Amino acid sequence: MPAVPAVTLAPTGALADTLARPLRDLRISVTDRCNFRCVYCMPRAVFDKDYPFLPHAALLSFEEIERLARLFVAHGVEKIRLTGGEPLLRKNLEHLIERLATLTTPDGRPLDLTLTTNGSLLERKARALKDAGLTRVTVSLDALDDALFQRMNDAGYSASNVLDGIAAAQAAGLAPLKVNMVVKRGTNDGEILPMARHFKGSGVVLRFIEYMDVGTSNGWNMAEVLPSAEVVARVAEHFPLVPLEAHSAAETAQRWGYADGGGEIGVISSVTRAFCGACTRARLSTEGKLYLCLFASAGHDLRAMLRSGATDADIASAIAHIWQARDDRYSQLRGSAAAQELGAHRVEMSYIGG
Ligand code: SAM
Ligand code: SF4
Ligand code: SF4
Repeated sequence: MPAVPAVTLAPTGALADTLARPLRDLRISVTDRCNFRCVYCMPRAVFDKDYPFLPHAALLSFEEIERLARLFVAHGVEKIRLTGGEPLLRKNLEHLIERLATLTTPDGRPLDLTLTTNGSLLERKARALKDAGLTRVTVSLDALDDALFQRMNDAGYSASNVLDGIAAAQAAGLAPLKVNMVVKRGTNDGEILPMARHFKGSGVVLRFIEYMDVGTSNGWNMAEVLPSAEVVARVAEHFPLVPLEAHSAAETAQRWGYADGGGEIGVISSVTRAFCGACTRARLSTEGKLYLCLFASAGHDLRAMLRSGATDADIASAIAHIWQARDDRYSQLRGSAAAQELGAHRVEMSYIGG
């Protein structure tokens, strides 16, 4: 458990880490469970019936999440993304969203409150999520071809099921809607063009993500990474693209617009073009550990503070000290001896959230 710091740091909304990066985004994992077994995230051979998923009592309660979120917002967080595992598996998630939707930044602005989902339960839940105050959603979809999609999720879910969820989210006004596709060379790179064609002109922003070496169970191999530059070239061959300005310095995706006005795509090049220099993200695991990097091997146990009677001032001060000491930049170091050392014990993405 992080010690209560001797020097108390009250929130100023302007924290910076050792590389002068502010704290702006918080990703909260609300469950470590998932109904999919995506081959690159929760391979069935590892996440089987004997896998030690967390017991319910280990999870942060909605009250605990809200309390921590409020402290992070006081420190400068403007965007909260709920993730997992599959966040829509967490019972009554709308009740958590209702609580988080009441938070505002120190200067009174509403938060950007979003969620990443595999989409399988979205058709049923989109309206309730919107009514609870969710701003928008990101849906993961790796292929339109059903046989391939089923091979990738390894749990028998159809692409049409996810597409119905996307349509329901659009109808509910959860906009702008983004779709994330993880590209694995030799597995689903043949789906790049069909996906681009499908979502072009639909108002959905399709983003291609380089396959990453998260966790230690997906057997990652550089040969299976298709660099974003190649994705852009493949799309541009059929649909001419023009580069677009980033919305903000901390944006992870590079944006490209269809020259004919049919909307835009994005590429997230975590492997070939590290964006650690602008990384303003903290991650809260399902059991309340604060991780400073997707590739971190250890977290700071805020749940222990919550459950041992620490005051808001104690916890806020601990968060400030932890963030001020942050020097993580794994993707920039990837391939170096330092990164290999750092990466040997990294946690699974389904545990700390994408
Ligand atoms: N279950 C939800 C979903 O799939 O959208 C939320 C959690 S998932 C861990 C968040 C995101 O991480 C998804 O878009 C997923 O595709 C992505 N992801 C998981 N493993 C990845 C990997 N090895 N490389 C790149 N992205 C990955
Ligand atoms: Fe589940 Fe999302 Fe991981 Fe796929 S990427 S196994 S849907 S948590
Ligand atoms: Fe941020 Fe870590 Fe990813 Fe770099 S490797 S962008 S520091 S999460």
